[in-house]
Amino acid sequence: MAWGTLRRPVCAYVYDTAALRARTAEVRASLPPSAVLLYAVKANGNPAVLGALAEVCDGLEIASGGELALARAAGAKRIVFAGPAKTDAELAAALDTGMLINVESVHELRRIAALGDHPDVVLRVNRAGTALHGSHTMTGTPTPFGIDETQLGDALAVPGVHVIGFHLHAVSNNLDGAAHAAFVRDCLDWSARTAAAHGVDLRVVNVGGGFGVDYVTGASIDLSPLRDIEVPDGVELIFEPGRFLAADAGWYAAEVIDLKTTHGRTFAVLRGGTHHFRLPAAWGYSHPFTVVPVDDWPHPWPRPSVTDTEVDAVGELCTPRDVLTRGQHVDRLRAGDILLFARTGAYGWDISHHEFLRHDPPEFMIL
Ligand SMILES: *Cc1c(COP(=O)(O)O)cnc(C)c1O
Repeated sequence: MAWGTLRRPVCAYVYDTAALRARTAEVRASLPPSAVLLYAVKANGNPAVLGALAEVCDGLEIASGGELALARAAGAKRIVFAGPAKTDAELAAALDTGMLINVESVHELRRIAALGDHPDVVLRVNRAGTALHGSHTMTGTPTPFGIDETQLGDALAVPGVHVIGFHLHAVSNNLDGAAHAAFVRDCLDWSARTAAAHGVDLRVVNVGGGFGVDYVTGASIDLSPLRDIEVPDGVELIFEPGRFLAADAGWYAAEVIDLKTTHGRTFAVLRGGTHHFRLPAAWGYSHPFTVVPVDDWPHPWPRPSVTDTEVDAVGELCTPRDVLTRGQHVDRLRAGDILLFARTGAYGWDISHHEFLRHDPPEFMIL
C-alpha cells in the first residue's frame, strides 16, 4: 500500500473498490442464480464504495432520506427502503421514485396508502420463531422492526396498498452458512404458506442481510450451502448484505503517537480511535492489527519502543474506553509505526461518534 502518500501522522481509512467488486462476484457465485443481490448502504455509505457496489450489485438497500440521496447519486439500478421510523417526507420521496418499500408497521402502511396511489409494498415481518444466531437478532424476539406475525391479518386488511411479499431480515453477523441456507429455505416456505393463507400474490421474498465475519479469528461465513436453494417461479428472492460485501475492502490505519507503560500495562496511543472506528468498543471485543514499521525517526532523543510485549491499542480521546485492542502481542513496536486494522470497511467510520473531542477526521484513500 502507498503509505508514503498519506499525511503524517497517518490516520486514514483505505477503501479498495477492486476488493468490493471481487467480493460481490464471489457472493453472487454462491447464491441461487436467479437471486437479487442488493447492498445495504448503512454498512458503509462512502460515495466511492457506493459507486462501485451500485455498479456490480442489482441495487442498494436504504434506510433513510440521506441514504436515498446517496443511492441516487451512486446510480443505483434499483432501491429498496426499510427502516422503522420513516417520515412522511421520506415515504413520499420513495413513492415518487416507485421504489419498493419494506413496511414496518400497520400505521406506516396506512400512511403509505394515504400518500401513494395503490403502490406495491412488501411487509417486514417479525416472525414468531427465529432459526438464526449472530451478533444481533431482529426477529422472534421483541424489537422495533417489522410487524408482529400475529398482526399480519390487520396489515393485510389495510386498503389502498398492494402487498407483493415479505421482508424477513432476521440477524446480523451469522457465521453458520448451513444455518443461513436453512433460514432462507424456511423463509421461502413460510412466505408461500402465508401468502396462500391470506390470498397474497407472492412476488418478493426478502431475506435481508446478516452474512458474518469473525473479526477475532479472521473466519467468514461459508455461503456455498446457499447455492442450491430452489426459488419458486415468479418469486424474486432478495438478499441485502452489508457487512460481508464491504468489511474486507476497508483498512483503518493509525500512527502510534506515543508508547508508554503504566502500572505494568503498555499502551500504543494512536492518532485515531473509537471516534473513527467504534465497532470494537460497541461490541466489546479486541480488533486485531498488524504493525507497519516506519523507519524514519526525526528526533535526537531515543525512540519509544517495545519488543516481545503485549500492548493495548488505544485512541486519542480523553476516556479510558477509547480502546480498539487489548493485549495483542507485538514482536516490536515503536512510536511512529503504523497500526493497520483490517476488515474495517463495514460499520467502521459510519457508526462512529466523529465529533467527540473534535479531532481532525481521518483521510479517506480510495484504491
Ligand atoms: C442492516 C441491515 C441489512 C444488512 O445487514 P448486514 O448484517 O450488514 O448484512 C440488511 N437489511 C436490513 C433491513 C438491515 O437493517
